[in-house]
Amino acid sequence: MDLNALNRISYGLYVLSVRLGDKDNGCIVNTVTQVTSSPTRIAVTVNKQNLTHDVLLHTGSFNVSVISESAKFALFKRFGFQSGRDADKFDGLSGARRAANQIAYITEGICAYLSAKVISSVDLGTHTLFIAEVTECEVLSEDAPMTYAYYHANVKPKPEESPAAKGFRCKICGYIYEGEELPPDFICPWCKHGVEDFEKI
Ligand code: FE
Repeated sequence: MDLNALNRISYGLYVLSVRLGDKDNGCIVNTVTQVTSSPTRIAVTVNKQNLTHDVLLHTGSFNVSVISESAKFALFKRFGFQSGRDADKFDGLSGARRAANQIAYITEGICAYLSAKVISSVDLGTHTLFIAEVTECEVLSEDAPMTYAYYHANVKPKPEESPAAKGFRCKICGYIYEGEELPPDFICPWCKHGVEDFEKI
């Protein structure tokens, strides 16, 4: 079995945003799919390590901002490379608005947004799969949506742009673990992938 076959499945990239009380949070996901058109339903899978996951399980409401090819690496750093437990990911963000559900969505580097309400969830161990009904959606620009492959080819910093370091590099996001040995249960703090996605540098 060649697991590289799974890398040939194409994915988009999205900011999944939620709100609890007056606190906004969001994370980057690559697993948004429309599952039915009547009614209009989407599915999204979220890693349980994300604060966004816990809030979504609790509130059942979210927005999806569809990242376009015009998005900058800063957007991925803001929403993907820090935790909402330590930082307010919306702090100082200029391009954001509130949808009718009062949850924020992003307006810069984004080509569309959708609001949705969870109708069902499935516990998948490391992740939860949420199935949700779309309650509102708009196209924001004619820019092409960014695929995961486009991100790897054009947006992610190239290894030579990273400062010289010894250790292991996450092939998914570029995070560098400095040390002689990578602990076998190590999980990338940025993208949450495991040791199988690290290479020695
Ligand atoms: Fe990573």
